[in-house]
Amino acid sequence: MINEKTKQALSKLVENPVQWDCPLAAYTSFGIGGVADALIIVDSRAELAGLFNSFANNKLEYRFIGKGTNILVSDAGYRGVVLLFGKSLSKIVLLEESAEGNVRVRVDGGCSLAKLLGWCMDSGYSGLEFTSGIPGSLGGAVAMNAGAWAGEMADVIDSLTVFSNTNKEELLGRDQLEFVYRKWKNNRNTNNEERVVLSADIVLKKGDKETIRATCAEYREKRKGKQPKGVQNAGSFFKNPEGDSAGQLIDAAGLKGLQCGDAMVSPVHANFLVNTGSATAKDVKELMNIVVERVKKNSGIELKPEVHFL
Ligand SMILES: Cc1cc2nc3c(=O)[nH]c(=O)nc-3n(C[C@H](O)[C@H](O)[C@H](O)COP(=O)(O)OP(=O)(O)OC[C@H]3O[C@@H](n4cnc5c(N)ncnc54)[C@H](O)[C@@H]3O)c2cc1C
Repeated sequence: MINEKTKQALSKLVENPVQWDCPLAAYTSFGIGGVADALIIVDSRAELAGLFNSFANNKLEYRFIGKGTNILVSDAGYRGVVLLFGKSLSKIVLLEESAEGNVRVRVDGGCSLAKLLGWCMDSGYSGLEFTSGIPGSLGGAVAMNAGAWAGEMADVIDSLTVFSNTNKEELLGRDQLEFVYRKWKNNRNTNNEERVVLSADIVLKKGDKETIRATCAEYREKRKGKQPKGVQNAGSFFKNPEGDSAGQLIDAAGLKGLQCGDAMVSPVHANFLVNTGSATAKDVKELMNIVVERVKKNSGIELKPEVHFL
């Protein structure tokens, strides 16, 4: 619980109204989750600095989310402040387009991947086609090293501008960044504080607009029929084990259609756990545990969740 004095102090630090006791389900693609003590939409670096200072002084927990397309929020919600970026921290700026066709773009953490890809298509910039059909924000995509069709964010990131309480703003060049499958490894500073992605410099190539559009459309089309529609979910729930497919392992264990409450292993794609109506986080976690146990029994392989927990 945040006391009244701290509430007043926090409200003064930001332009957007603070949402106290904010239900988080609406901020996630799963549509699941309890109430956070507060939710703040941050719209400037100055606000971020003020808030982080106040969190440290008042020993308040905080957590950044993007579009909430890869998180499961607990039914008990979050005791602390959930932060997300507003419009002013969702911009795309072209930094350079060389005569050789090399392109450098600065994208804010709050920018949606869909907006970024649309901009690339309109500008004829190639390199992010693999994100076609991946929901979420740039910041979330960096944190997850999101990828598809043999491409991933790590392929295009040249540097990151990040923010943390002790280091404030830092510019991390590509050689200072460590990415592995679906994970940005050094996402914490030496004080173990989370580094928030303010913006990423991304390198692309000038390409043919029609070819870029066609590739994006092809990738979108390939997703159709292979992913569940009309039910809330967080994309692939488990990471693919090296050289294997989580979906195939779950399917081979005969788990398609298995249900815990309103949480279900999608009959369309076994690596999607879906909310068929009013699933709780408890339902999803129960289902997750059964899937892990049965896949282990059937194949000897232990699945690890890709989805983050809040
Ligand atoms: C239908 C569907 C299909 C999907 N397909 C794919 C796919 O093909 N490939 C793939 O990789 N993923 C896929 N996903 C998962 C998801 O869309 C991606 O992981 C996406 O990049 C997450 O972005 P987000 O903004 O929603 O992050 P969130 O879910 O909001 O957050 C994910 C993590 O990132 C952290 N984070 C968020 N913003 C920041 C920031 N600015 N700085 C630091 N950390 C931050 C959060 O704290 C959290 O730990 C899919 C999801 C759905 C629902």
